[in-house]
Amino acid sequence: MALPLPTSLSPSKVSSFKDCALAFRFSAIDRLPEPPSLPAVKGTTVHRALELLFLAPPSERTPERAQECLRTALEEMSANEQYRGLELEAPAAAEFAADAARMVERYFTLEDPRAITPIGLELMLTAEIGSLTVRGIIDRLELDERGDLVVTDYKTGRTPSQAQEQSRLGGVHFYSLLCLKVFGKLPSRIQLVYLGSEPQVITTTPSEQSALGTERKVGAVWAAIERACEHEDFRPQRSALCNWCSFQAFCPSFGGDPAQAVALAARPGPQRQLDLTAGG
Ligand code: SF4
Repeated sequence: MALPLPTSLSPSKVSSFKDCALAFRFSAIDRLPEPPSLPAVKGTTVHRALELLFLAPPSERTPERAQECLRTALEEMSANEQYRGLELEAPAAAEFAADAARMVERYFTLEDPRAITPIGLELMLTAEIGSLTVRGIIDRLELDERGDLVVTDYKTGRTPSQAQEQSRLGGVHFYSLLCLKVFGKLPSRIQLVYLGSEPQVITTTPSEQSALGTERKVGAVWAAIERACEHEDFRPQRSALCNWCSFQAFCPSFGGDPAQAVALAARPGPQRQLDLTAGG
């Protein structure tokens, strides 16, 4: 019996399938719960602070205002299920807030937000490519001085080495493809704004060729997912990422049984959560 296809593809799902088809299946098809990740939750908090900053009038986008926005974001996060799932004790929560504050502070070493004209914040774009729906959330879409589109993606992880830069830009080319499909024009620039300990902006200029290349790659990944679903054949691919994989307990590469995950996926939500926490 064929497995159900995912309803859409996003940049993170494309990389997840390319990294390890089996982990993709557990996450995107079986929808097994995963424990919250501290770096991901911190990233969400910083993204929200910067979104709030850009909702303020340009002249008010100061470092002080940005820290106020962060305090608001942290308050919002205190009710967030993922944040609560981290179960941070007071010292760890304080370190979480201090680290987020440092990232917001570093942002001002890279850009002057008063000079930026955003036309979309946390903007969800959806487009059809044949039978496939692609979607992605653009952190910030703005117009440059010539009225051309600029896509900005904030990154709260480590700044990549030069060798890793092009692969990190792959996800951003996905956004340029979305712009082409939705607005009928390519962005003039795509930039990754790294807010970690070595703040840096990595910029690329998309072309028709890079957008078409991305469309071909996404189409090829979709065809591979269709085949994998049809034959229920999602293979594990060991890599350094296994160290952070939530599904090791079900992975044959680590002595696990994927059938247990399938059985778990069929159970009601609360039971799934309990069993996964207990390791199967
Ligand atoms: S442990 Fe590694 S090989 Fe196994 S599912 Fe996770 S990422 Fe894939």
